[in-house]
Amino acid sequence: MSGEACPGDIARVDDAMGAIFKPPWSASARSVKRNGNHMKVWIDQDLCTGDGLCEEIAPDVFFGMDDGLFYVKESADNFGTEKLFDGAANPAGAEGTARIPEDGLDRVIESAEECPGECIFIEVGE
Ligand code: SF4
Repeated sequence: MSGEACPGDIARVDDAMGAIFKPPWSASARSVKRNGNHMKVWIDQDLCTGDGLCEEIAPDVFFGMDDGLFYVKESADNFGTEKLFDGAANPAGAEGTARIPEDGLDRVIESAEECPGECIFIEVGE
């Protein structure tokens, strides 16, 4: 449809209060993190190509399922107990936001930047 924003035009960092950071959004995310905010990540599975690049870069944050799609998680190593946002144990998609580990933001940002589906979203959590 003409006039419709292509995925690359969509800002993929926003915060819980609705403020949107425009690309280059990775710099915005790092700035927000430096200001002491907690960062979270989710995947829009409707756009996921299933290539697994995100898991290659950040296996403690992303994982694949039998449906060929990828999801986010909070690993036991990072948070004490494992929490899968797989649409069964916990919601997936925009309702399933996983906390990003303290040392994981750069890996998650790299995953989002490399993601061919442009479907990894980073936001400021509570
Ligand atoms: S990098 Fe993006 S498109 Fe590829 S598997 Fe991960 S979320 Fe899906």
